[in-house]
Amino acid sequence: MAVVGIDLGTTNSLVTAWHDGKVVPIPNALGDHLTPSVVSLDRDGSILVGRAARDRLVTHPRETVATFKRAMGTTQQFQLGRQKFRAEDLSALVLRSLKADAEAFLGEKVTEAVVSVPAYFNELQRKATKAAAQIAGLHVERLINEPTAAAVAYGVGQIERDGTFLVFDLGGGTFDVSILELFERTLEVHASAGDIRLGGEDFRWRMAEACLRDNDLAWESLDNQQRALVMNAAESTKNQLSEAEVALMEFRVGTRDVAWPISRAQYEEICQDLVDRLRLPVERAMRDAKRDPGRIDQILLVGGATRMPMVRRLAERMFGRSPRVDLDPDRVVAIGAGVQAMLKTSETAFQDVVLTDVCPWTLGIDVKSDDAEEKSMFSPIIERNSTVPISRSKRYSATEDFQTQVKIKVYQGESRRLECNVFLGELSVPLPSLPKSENRFDVRFTYDINGILEVIVTHLRTKRESRLVLERNPGTLTPEQIAQRLAELAPLKLHPRETQQVRSLLAYADRLYEERLGEEREEIASRIRAFREVLDRQEPQECEQAIEVFREFLQGLGECGF
Ligand code: AMP
Repeated sequence: MAVVGIDLGTTNSLVTAWHDGKVVPIPNALGDHLTPSVVSLDRDGSILVGRAARDRLVTHPRETVATFKRAMGTTQQFQLGRQKFRAEDLSALVLRSLKADAEAFLGEKVTEAVVSVPAYFNELQRKATKAAAQIAGLHVERLINEPTAAAVAYGVGQIERDGTFLVFDLGGGTFDVSILELFERTLEVHASAGDIRLGGEDFRWRMAEACLRDNDLAWESLDNQQRALVMNAAESTKNQLSEAEVALMEFRVGTRDVAWPISRAQYEEICQDLVDRLRLPVERAMRDAKRDPGRIDQILLVGGATRMPMVRRLAERMFGRSPRVDLDPDRVVAIGAGVQAMLKTSETAFQDVVLTDVCPWTLGIDVKSDDAEEKSMFSPIIERNSTVPISRSKRYSATEDFQTQVKIKVYQGESRRLECNVFLGELSVPLPSLPKSENRFDVRFTYDINGILEVIVTHLRTKRESRLVLERNPGTLTPEQIAQRLAELAPLKLHPRETQQVRSLLAYADRLYEERLGEEREEIASRIRAFREVLDRQEPQECEQAIEVFREFLQGLGECGF
C-alpha cells in the first residue's frame, strides 16, 4: 500500500509519492501539481477544493474560505453557506481531495501519509493536523517539520558531502529558519526559529494597501467580492514583480477601472520593514545553533515567496553567497515528505538516512516565584532546539508543609512570565502528608518525534507515578469528536474528479463575468449558457468538443492557465 507525502500549505497543497524509481509530485484532476488550499460549498451542497474554489472566492465569498491553516488548533469557526467548519474540517477536505488525486494516479488505495507542518506548530496545531488527516481517512505515519522535509529533499541525492546548511522557508503564511547538519548520512536539525505571522500574504497585503491608498479607496468601503478582486490583482502584480521591473495592478470597483503602475523599487520600499523582520529569526537560529554565517555551507530557499528578488538579496547579504534555488521552492517540502514516506515503505539505499528533529519551543511547568511581586514563574524542563526524541527530568518539592496535592501546569514558550507562554494542560498529583523538604518529586517530560509531549510525575518516597492527560485544551478534538466530525463530513461529497475540470472552467468563467463589463460580459454569459446546454445533453463526444471550445474562448480572454 502506498504511503504518500503531503505538504498541507497555507496557500497551496501538494501530494507526492514514490513512482518509477523517484518521488514525484502528483497532478490533481486539472493536471496541476499545486492545489490551492481553498474550500467552497457548491449550490448542490457538494464541496469544491482547489482552483475552482479559489475562483469562487470572488464570485461566492460567503460559501468559500482560504488561509485556514493559521487557525489550526483553535476553536475558530468558519461559516460556509449555512454550515460551520473548524480549520481541521477544512484541512480534512483538502486532504480528502489530495488522497483522491493520489489514488487516481497510483491506481491503489492510499490510507497513510507523512504530512509536513511548520516547525513552529505547537502541540495543539500538530494534534489538529493529525485529526484533520484522520477525518480525511488518512493515518499519519509521521509529521515532519517543513524545513526538515525541505532539507531531506535537497539532502538526499543532491548533497553528497557532509555539511551544515540553513533552510530559509518563506511560505504564504509563515517564515521558518532551520539549521541542519548532514554527517555521515545522518541529518540532524540543530536549531529552528521563525515568525508565525510573516509570509507572502503580508507582502500581498502591502501591495493591496498601497494601491488602495494611492487610488483613494478604503478597504472598509469595499464589499467582499471587491476585496477579493483587489487581493487577486495584488497577488498577480506581486508575482509579476519577481520577474519584471514594473507591473500594472488592474481591477474594477463598481464602475471604476483601476490601473495602477508600480515599479519593483517602489514595491521593495513599501515592504522594507517586512524584509527586515526576516533577519531576526535567522540570527536567533544561528545563535541557538552556535554557528556564524561563515560556517553555513549552503542556504536553501523554500516557499513561493522566496522568489522575490528582495528576499534572495537579503539571504545573499546575510551569508555573503548565493542561496541554492535549484529545486522548485513550491515543491521542495512535499518532495521531502514523499522521500520520508518512501523511507517507510521501501528498502532502498536511502534507508540509512536518520532524521532527527528539534523541539521548537521550550517546555516547562509553573513553580512558585522567588520574586515577591509574582506568585509563580516558568521553570523550563526541555529547552527549545533540543534534538528529539528527548526525555528530561527535573526535581521539585512541595511548597507547603503537609501539602496533600500539587497542581502541575504545563506551558510552552520562552518567557519567564507564565502569562506570556502557551498553557498546554495541567495535572493534579496527590502527595503524602510530609514536611515540604521531604515531599519531593521528579517531573519527566518526554517529547517524541511527532511533537507530542508526555509528562510523568514520580514521587521520590512513594514511587507513585502520575501521567499527564492534557485537559482543558479547547483547541484539541477528542477521539469522540473526531469520530463525530467524520460522520458529519461524510455526507459532504467532493466533486467527482471527472467533473472537476468542467466545474473549474465554469467557476473561472463566472469570475470573469463579474470582472468584465459590457459586450464582453454579454459574450461570456451567452458562452456559459451554450456550454451548459451541451453539458445537459450528456453526449460524451459533444461534451469533449465543447470543453475544448470553451477553454479556448476563456484562454482568449486572459491568462487563465487552463
Ligand atoms: P507556499 O506556502 O510555499 O506555497 O508559498 C506561497 C506564497 O508564495 C504565496 O504567498 C504566494 O503569493 C507566494 N509566491 C508564489 N509565487 C511567487 C512569485 N513569483 N513572487 C512572489 N511571491 C510568490
